[in-house]
Amino acid sequence: MQINAHKVVTIHYTLTDNDGNILDSSSNGEPLNFIQGIGALIAGMEEGLEGKVKGDKLQLKVAPEKGYGIHQPEMVQQVPMSAFGGQMVSEGMQFEAGSDEQRFIVTVTAVGDEFATIDGNHPLAGVELNFDIEVLDVREASEEELAHGHVHGPGGHHH
Ligand code: ZN
Repeated sequence: MQINAHKVVTIHYTLTDNDGNILDSSSNGEPLNFIQGIGALIAGMEEGLEGKVKGDKLQLKVAPEKGYGIHQPEMVQQVPMSAFGGQMVSEGMQFEAGSDEQRFIVTVTAVGDEFATIDGNHPLAGVELNFDIEVLDVREASEEELAHGHVHGPGGHHH
């Protein structure tokens, strides 16, 4: 069975940057289960997996445009320390911002005496992604899974 829209796919993956640093990996834990074709994964990963079958091993290079987006300079801002309401702020700290419709993670990238620099880009924005993938299983998604937009059973939702 080939991977295409509305298949439940189980993979192991390792994600590295161009310097070979491991950014994320499923190999020490549960494999990743997802429904293909509903935007559960970044576009470059879905495109690269399309047509693959159980047992396939592949390497994918995903450009930022098909990954977590390009790095947008206007998402980087200087904010006065007073905006944090006396909270301790340190470099690398992350917090949620935005409205109910669109939440995003903001990372503190620098802290000065009066101002902190915050970056609303995804931490992997602008990064070329290298995936090492093994396809462990491919099956049809049930109507219930498609209605819910997530995988049920082992490695998925239990409810
Ligand atoms: Zn469900």
